[in-house]
Amino acid sequence: MKQLFRCEYCSETGVEEEIRAHEETCLWNYNKRSCWTCKYAEKLVMNITCNGGVALEKGKYMEGCSKYEWDKKNHTTPATVKSLFGGSLF
Ligand SMILES: [Zn+2]
Repeated sequence: MKQLFRCEYCSETGVEEEIRAHEETCLWNYNKRSCWTCKYAEKLVMNITCNGGVALEKGKYMEGCSKYEWDKKNHTTPATVKSLFGGSLF
């Protein structure tokens, strides 16, 4: 039996190769400096507005943002987003 690994940024689990690949693309990877984990982002289902003054196109989000600040307090995966990416609502 293969050992299971867990994503460093979310609750995704899988075999090592899967999780290594997943962490690169994980929305909660704060090294990506994306809206998903930024404290300036106002998330409304799949639409994001930025409180830091960055103009975002409707339905889009930013990665590698210069205004990025990690939202440490709110480091949880919103249930709405999780379900869209195949997670479970419990
Ligand atoms: Zn992840």
